[in-house]
Amino acid sequence: MTSKFVKFLYCLLVMVAPLRSAAAGDKLIVVSSIPTLKSIVELVGRDKVESFAIATGYQNPHFVDPKPSFIMKLSKADGFVTSGLDLEIGWASSLIQSSRNAKIQPGGDGYVDASRGVPLLQVPSSIDRAQGDIHIYGNPHYWLDPLRGKQIAQNIFETLAKLSPENRDYFAANLAAFDKEIDTRTAAWEKALEPLKGQPVIAYHNEWPYLEERFKFVVVDFLEPKPPAGEGDIRGEIEKYTDHHQFTLLHHRSRRTGFTSDGRPPGGPRVVG
Ligand SMILES: [Zn+2]
Repeated sequence: MTSKFVKFLYCLLVMVAPLRSAAAGDKLIVVSSIPTLKSIVELVGRDKVESFAIATGYQNPHFVDPKPSFIMKLSKADGFVTSGLDLEIGWASSLIQSSRNAKIQPGGDGYVDASRGVPLLQVPSSIDRAQGDIHIYGNPHYWLDPLRGKQIAQNIFETLAKLSPENRDYFAANLAAFDKEIDTRTAAWEKALEPLKGQPVIAYHNEWPYLEERFKFVVVDFLEPKPPAGEGDIRGEIEKYTDHHQFTLLHHRSRRTGFTSDGRPPGGPRVVG
């Protein structure tokens, strides 16, 4: 490479760098652990944020493979939103530590524990992971209740307003619109799900108590073995319900071990998920 060409490249970089940082500076970069939190960041931050999620909707949020690309993304983030408790205990803290980004470490200005202030269910009086407990601080799947989503949005709002105080009123207006929309939709969902009231439901993983509380169905059993077997054979568990058409099976798309190739349990209950 000739020295003239190197100088040209250097000049180009000097000219382009401020343009790039100005463009990035227009928006806060916020990384969330799971897609639901990413969506709430988008709704509160709207065009003042660039919002990313590490896990996809198809992944079990308890078990996500940390990838170097996540660390790169986190190293440039202004904020990090975690569902907290022990949901992402196996992967999120190592990722944010590896990012070496002081802003998004616990206690940093950009760190959001979305569970702050959220009323929790199933908080255990004693903990025994050896018995397969993976929700040691209470059930961490609280975002599945739409009304608890308002507290999550409040937590995200407070951090966005701290990171970008000039946009506080903008974020506050978005938060108010979010809350209103949640109230309207929850009322409609309660009406639509009225037939589920008191109905027995089998779930795969214990992730539905908040939805259960809101819409009043009754989870009677779980298919997931304890301790959870990632790829273990749960066909026997599923087959218990093969002839029980009165049950509804509620499951997350990531949890289909033992199901048939089209992602359904063999025979049995009506499936929602
Ligand atoms: Zn869980």
